[in-house]
Amino acid sequence: MTPVESLSVAEALANILAAVPVLSAERVPFAEAVGRILAEPIVAHDDLPPFANSSMDGYALQAADTAAPPTTLRVVGEVAAGAMPQVMVERGTAVRIMTGAPLPDGADAVVPVEDTDEAWRDKARGLPTHVEIRRTVLAGDFVRPAGGDIARGTAVLQPGHRLRPAEISLLASLGQTEVAVVRRPRVGILATGDELLEVHEPLRPGKIRNSNGYAQAAQVAEAGGIPIPLGIGRDTEADVRDRLQAGLEAGVDLFISSAGVSVGVYDVVTAVLQSAGSIGFWRVRMRPGKPLAFGRYQGIPYFGFPGNPVSAMVSFERFGRPALLKMGGHTALQRPQLPVTLTVAVDSDGRESYLRALVQRTADGGYSAAPTGDQGSHMLSSLVTANALLIIPEGVRHAAVGDVLQALMLDWPEWVF
Ligand code: AMP
Ligand code: MG
Repeated sequence: MTPVESLSVAEALANILAAVPVLSAERVPFAEAVGRILAEPIVAHDDLPPFANSSMDGYALQAADTAAPPTTLRVVGEVAAGAMPQVMVERGTAVRIMTGAPLPDGADAVVPVEDTDEAWRDKARGLPTHVEIRRTVLAGDFVRPAGGDIARGTAVLQPGHRLRPAEISLLASLGQTEVAVVRRPRVGILATGDELLEVHEPLRPGKIRNSNGYAQAAQVAEAGGIPIPLGIGRDTEADVRDRLQAGLEAGVDLFISSAGVSVGVYDVVTAVLQSAGSIGFWRVRMRPGKPLAFGRYQGIPYFGFPGNPVSAMVSFERFGRPALLKMGGHTALQRPQLPVTLTVAVDSDGRESYLRALVQRTADGGYSAAPTGDQGSHMLSSLVTANALLIIPEGVRHAAVGDVLQALMLDWPEWVF
């Protein structure tokens, strides 16, 4: 007899998170690191900007010369972006300067070209001998000082930081060609059941196509993991064992299987896990997704999710995704939740329930939610039209129109906002 433990969702998740490790680091080219989690601090080895430069096209000068505009200054040279100034600025003189060009010695400010008598972007005029300055500036105006963004030696990013396009820009600016990031979890995905066909096969009597394997591969990829398909395990212990062995040889960090973990006569996954792993079989007080197996197979963390497609996906959302995110080094493990006002009454059996729901923005700026349809655990259609899982807390059996519940947002379509 399989030992079955009854756990709340929170207890199950806490057990799971305690059992999965944060993976080791690997070095990757910085340009391929978007979405990854830093595993090392990044220290700036250069000032950013590396030199004082102009923030405008205009004239570099001494601010003191602009105290009583208009003032005419002698133009002694020019400096373009990428060049070095060849002249100094002294009292009564100015150097034409382009955005990003180094500030000449002696200058302490820039006056934008719009505030001079020079025709805006009139290249044909060439360098004038004199320029009329029509405004006052203070020392430092329109100058970007060296190190003004980031000073050399500063630790700009800490381990655990998620690299977004902004961080990629920073790494590029600092010349950081490679970064250490947490490895992406390699996840072996096994579907089980004699009823399953491959996706390309025509339907035959009594058979259905394997959707779980693909749903889970997509969920793994979306959570930053690398899916490693282990195919369809037939309802024999030998076949399931062979496929798990293939996963071990592929170096998986985590196994995910679907079906075969309830107490049916043909639930061979249960038998295999019991013989070669340390696995707990849990009755999670959750709907959908009650049966859940979690533990280790040959030392590798293992999730045995339910077979019904929606149960499998909701269980992954609640347990698999946070575990994968932890393994990948993330510290934010939960999807965002919103308080939503029910527009339809909902019922539960007292288990923590996750209803497929559509969350919408209301006229007063809040959010409303309604179930998307039949909540049967095989009903994919109501998952496809949902953008959230509406959470009915444990112990609550009824929620009325106007009640406020939490919605776990699966998706943030622009039209919601
Ligand atoms: P089980 O956990 O084996 O009792 O399966 C529960 C239900 O999920 C059954 O209706 C199965 O046919 C269905 N099922 C199991 N595995 C898959 C799969 N990979 N794709 C789609 N449905 C599945
Ligand atoms: Mg089955």
